[in-house]
Amino acid sequence: MSELADRLADVDARIAEAVRASGRAPDEVTRIVVTKFHPVTVVTELHRLGVRDVGENRQQELSAKRDTVAATLPGLRWHFIGQAQTNKARAVRAAADAVHSVDRVRLADALHAADPGGATLDVLLQVNLTDDTGRGGVAPLELERLAVHVAQHCPSLRMRGVMAVAPLDGDAAAAFARLADASATVRRVAPDATWISAGMTGDFVEAIAAGATHLRIGSAITGPRPDRG
Ligand SMILES: *Cc1c(COP(=O)(O)O)cnc(C)c1O
Repeated sequence: MSELADRLADVDARIAEAVRASGRAPDEVTRIVVTKFHPVTVVTELHRLGVRDVGENRQQELSAKRDTVAATLPGLRWHFIGQAQTNKARAVRAAADAVHSVDRVRLADALHAADPGGATLDVLLQVNLTDDTGRGGVAPLELERLAVHVAQHCPSLRMRGVMAVAPLDGDAAAAFARLADASATVRRVAPDATWISAGMTGDFVEAIAAGATHLRIGSAITGPRPDRG
């Protein structure tokens, strides 16, 4: 087996164990492989290994990779997990099957306006679990207002749930407990918005225990990221 196949199998075994330990069902958890900064050949190889959900955090890289393999890799779902600029909303919408990082009204409006009558776009509301307002994500106290806005004014967006990155220096389990509260807030507005996108290489076990439905795992599977060129 290739190193990539080895690492994927190892991570999947650890996910399965954490799902079992949490008393959850395996089909409640989707593993997204974050391929940012890696060449598109990694995406092709992952697809050969059965991966169908991949994540990217930059619009240009997402668009370029998707265009490269669109014709050859059927069934691949592209998750946009990075901070999006409003003026890139059209390109993000064209390339992503799900956008995990909707964190303000203007971005939601721009994504909606990019294709108001088209197929619905899955979106998650990104919540900032840190005290640093410079990090991506809506403040927990602003979350309900954002959810109501998307529900009322962005009919081409399908609100699927919440997303967060745990603070670098903090307690991941405590952060993910706050994310579960945020999920409940959004579900009061949109009862079927049940996705919880949380858990990276360093904290996916804690995320699974806290109810994550979508894990975003990069380096544990892909190996260390090359420097961005
Ligand atoms: C890069 C990235 C990940 C994956 O990080 P790893 O630590 O490599 O697993 C997950 N989520 C977001 C938002 C990212 O930018």
